[in-house]
Amino acid sequence: KKILSELGLSPRKGLGQNFLIDQGPVNTIIEAADIKSVDVIIEIGPGLGIVTQQILQTARKVIAVELDQKLAIALEQKMQNPSFTVIYGDAREVDVDAISLNMRYKLVANLPYYAASPILRHFLESPNHPTKVVAMLQREVAQNIVAEPGNMSLMSVGIQLYGKPTIVAYVPPSAFYPRPKVTSAIIHIDVYNEPLLKLDNRDAFFRIVRAGFSAPRKQLHNSLSHGLKIS
Ligand code: SAM
Repeated sequence: KKILSELGLSPRKGLGQNFLIDQGPVNTIIEAADIKSVDVIIEIGPGLGIVTQQILQTARKVIAVELDQKLAIALEQKMQNPSFTVIYGDAREVDVDAISLNMRYKLVANLPYYAASPILRHFLESPNHPTKVVAMLQREVAQNIVAEPGNMSLMSVGIQLYGKPTIVAYVPPSAFYPRPKVTSAIIHIDVYNEPLLKLDNRDAFFRIVRAGFSAPRKQLHNSLSHGLKIS
């Protein structure tokens, strides 16, 4: 709160700004990312840099993507580190190949919850996808992502096509300022070199998956014919 007021800023709810104020979850994120001195890390939503600073202690290079321009400028000034670059932009749309300079990288993020799944999908679907993801998101979203057959959804298929997700830890609202209304979870995704399916047309694949899950209580052939509007 003090740091924000010194910068003349206050948390922007619309940008999912719940800043970590507890070192415990930061350490858990760092351990799960297993950062080595050769690693390049892309961090989404560095905010005031609590996770960023810790990553920079080990990683070779950190590229951060931040949508709040004032925070991006403040962070660049604060870090003054040649291994650190901050890109002002929307992580749902950035050109991943361009910002990663086609280097192999790990993705680390305390994600803004309103955009967590489109951001993950955007990076996992990019030609230069991360080798590993460690991300904090809403507990229920994390549970959907790791769901097993019988409990799966469009979300779990959309992530598990690209890697194996696990929940590393749960994080209570008291770890953040301001406190979110929900419990959070840190997930780890071990990303496959190639997606599980070689898809010529990803949109068509997801149209079928979406139709298949459109009415969980119906038989699959009915969901598919209804969802795809075919007899
Ligand atoms: N990493 C910081 C921490 O742990 O305290 C901040 C995490 S906060 C949950 C999410 C951050 O993502 C904020 O800094 C917010 O401005 C930024 N953000 C929100 N939407 C974004 C987007 N679409 N692309 C990139 N950053 C975004």
